[in-house]
Amino acid sequence: MPLIKASCPTCGDVELTMEDIRVLVCSTDGQASYNFRCPSCAVRVSKAADKAVVDVLISAGVALSFWRMPAELEEEHDGEPISYDELVQFHYELADGAFFERLSESARKRED
Ligand SMILES: [Zn+2]
Repeated sequence: MPLIKASCPTCGDVELTMEDIRVLVCSTDGQASYNFRCPSCAVRVSKAADKAVVDVLISAGVALSFWRMPAELEEEHDGEPISYDELVQFHYELADGAFFERLSESARKRED
């Protein structure tokens, strides 16, 4: 089985089989990357790939997967982004166990 040389940021050059690598192409913007788990240190490595690299990997038989950006990115949003304090407050509201009861009650009041 042909081996593909890749580089792990920790271990340097490593040899991989086609099954060890996956090419990911974003169908929204066309950006591509490939990833693998380093056979030496087991760290998941992901690297950007230009079209030439993608073509070489695909022609070698590496699996190709497509993904797309979440549709929510194309929605219009208004208002300020949530703040760190709001996120922490939300965390505490979820943690007290009664959040969904309060949410349901609040929704019922709005319907009345
Ligand atoms: Zn490694």
